[in-house]
Amino acid sequence: MTLAEIETWLREEDAGRLERLWAMADGVRRQHVGDAVHLRGLVELSNHCRRQCAYCGIRAGRNELVRYRLTETEIMDCVRLAASLGLGTVVLQAGEDPGLTRDGVAGLVRRIKAETALAVTLSLGERSDDELAAWREAGADRYLLRFETSNPELYRRIHPARPGETRDRLTLLESLRRLGYEVGSGVMVGIPGQTYRDLARDIERLGELRLDMIGLGPYLPHPETPLGRAGQTVMDAAADQVPNSAVMATKAMALARLVCPDANIPATTALATIDRARGHALGLQRGANVIMPDLTPPGYRELYAIYPGKTPLTADRIEAVRAIQALVASLSRSVGRGPGGARHREDVTSRPKECPSWSK
Ligand code: SAH
Repeated sequence: MTLAEIETWLREEDAGRLERLWAMADGVRRQHVGDAVHLRGLVELSNHCRRQCAYCGIRAGRNELVRYRLTETEIMDCVRLAASLGLGTVVLQAGEDPGLTRDGVAGLVRRIKAETALAVTLSLGERSDDELAAWREAGADRYLLRFETSNPELYRRIHPARPGETRDRLTLLESLRRLGYEVGSGVMVGIPGQTYRDLARDIERLGELRLDMIGLGPYLPHPETPLGRAGQTVMDAAADQVPNSAVMATKAMALARLVCPDANIPATTALATIDRARGHALGLQRGANVIMPDLTPPGYRELYAIYPGKTPLTADRIEAVRAIQALVASLSRSVGRGPGGARHREDVTSRPKECPSWSK
């Protein structure tokens, strides 16, 4: 698909033609990753963060936000809950928290791998090669790091570099691949200042990166952030601003499925937040094959407030997973068993080091 074609689809508003896009994405999803929907148990380890991302509700400097870091015992309880519910993967996510040390995280991963059959996905922000290598060595299978936007100017404004920092997220994705992780990335849809051409380029980039996992969700303004304060924008996108709507997010997901047919793509929590009644279902019908139920203990999950309204429909984690399983069944899909890793993994590992799509 050319950049122009991607952009044309993003601008499409005719319901009939959009039905064709949904059907194409659904068909490619079925053909490449099948009808199974994999559930990944999300554990939000810590809301401490050293970054100043303009969009994020747990950014450094929000002094009024109560900060937490789960203990190993609390984390292992969540991990065992995931295993007992039949999930195949735990996703350990956090702010970019130096308190989650190299050795601490490595020990935790080693313990999860020793005590359960779960795949472990990490999403801990931009960490050193040394840390990423130690965690991979300890047995971590996957890493999620969204590049957020492929427009370098917009990225710089919403995601200020740390003093002295030289690596951007795209460079880090290459390190992760070299270390043997399954690699996930993605963007937010509807960032103030993001144009249709920007989002089309984002999707093109997702295809070039040949990602194992792609996370896309609508940008949701958080009123206590620089970007979320009423009327704020960081760039003048004028009439070409991409809306942060559920339909635009699912257009981007459908197109991501078309450019990256084998990827594991979640119907994200952000999508389910903006459309509480139908978000997960729409995602699963428009390209997605994964859902990540939140297993963070009540009392902490409210503090992992990257955007407002993230509260689940039910506080009971078991009930929430059961509801998702019921949703999957109602769509005539099955719940995936086992870790549900990347389909094209062999192809990926045998790929020559100098793959042109990676060296761009
Ligand atoms: N510290 C980790 C995890 C961040 S949370 C990291 O930076 O990678 C995971 C994702 O949530 C982010 O990558 C971002 O795309 C998304 N996110 C953060 N704030 C958001 C907001 N206000 N609206 C929508 N998505 C948001």
